[in-house]
Amino acid sequence: MKISLIAHDEKKEAMIQFATSYQHILAKHDLFATGTTGKRIQEATGLKVHRFQSGPLGGDQQIGAKIAENKMDLVIFFRDPLTAQPHEPDISALMRLCDVYQIPLVTNLAGAEVMIRALQAGFFSWRELVREDDK
Ligand code: PGA
Repeated sequence: MKISLIAHDEKKEAMIQFATSYQHILAKHDLFATGTTGKRIQEATGLKVHRFQSGPLGGDQQIGAKIAENKMDLVIFFRDPLTAQPHEPDISALMRLCDVYQIPLVTNLAGAEVMIRALQAGFFSWRELVREDDK
């Protein structure tokens, strides 16, 4: 599975803890992230992460483009609901594309805990069938 990991600044620590806790599961998948989130995850866990631009510099849009091309399977996005983000339009666009293309999206740690267990249980295997780029 191709999984995107994004965390706003106030949520980066939670993302590091999440990635560390579920490293054994995440390591079996292709990981993508916005710039700083990816760097922090790599440093903390040693996981291989493809890093896009930082979120405010276009990273969310790059992940959105992958979704539009059917090259992303899941999005784990720890949003900060209490801080205004300069790239709010990009964030909305990314979430909109998840809805357009039926890409599973969680926006907080509680959802991510459920998603990662579902991932491990094989609940997202249908994505392998609808994703084109491996063929
Ligand atoms: P970052 O981007 O991982 O580069 O910090 C995430 C964001 O703030 O949108």
